[in-house]
Amino acid sequence: MEKPTEIMVKQTRLSLAQGDITRQNTDAIVNAANSSLMGDSGVDGAIHRAGGPAILEECKQIVARQGRLPTGRAVITTGGNLKAKYVIHTVGPVWHGGGQGEPELLASAYRESLKLASQRNLTSVSFPSISTGAYGYPVADAARVALKTVLTFLQNETTSLKEVVFVLYDARTYETYRVALEELAK
Ligand code: ADP
Repeated sequence: MEKPTEIMVKQTRLSLAQGDITRQNTDAIVNAANSSLMGDSGVDGAIHRAGGPAILEECKQIVARQGRLPTGRAVITTGGNLKAKYVIHTVGPVWHGGGQGEPELLASAYRESLKLASQRNLTSVSFPSISTGAYGYPVADAARVALKTVLTFLQNETTSLKEVVFVLYDARTYETYRVALEELAK
């Protein structure tokens, strides 16, 4: 992993790293899931492959209990065989051009994940770049929403979190988040 870019927000370190989120040892990693919670392609598939069947088992129980997970909401399961103890599954919006509430739904996915982590008293959590793969959200726009939402949460809410990491898979996404963080931190 590259040397992370970071800022402090009250008691919490917010940092960017390039790499594979399935290898993170934060208390939880966030999964960019889809509403079925059945594991799919992209980061979702990678997390289920690396974490093993216990994650899917819990996802199935959640869907049996409460139905499909709506866009912008989040649930938590075991991390199975991952280094992370928990996986927080959230559903980002599919990009339809930006006029269908995409920014608010994306912000909600981050906020609900941070709330869950705080409710469980976790000290660290890692996020992927939600919605910018198969769901087609333009990366620069998504990066601004993601970072602004996390910054606002950390500034305004009481949280157990000491560390929030964005783990960006490819160099272009990492660089886009780096520029967005620089702009926001000005
Ligand atoms: P979505 O359906 O929300 O768009 P994707 O999984 O298709 O989710 O893509 C979201 C982001 O996750 C993309 O930037 C993709 O490159 C990235 N990604 C894929 N695999 C991993 C991984 N193992 N670790 C971190 N990020 C990943």
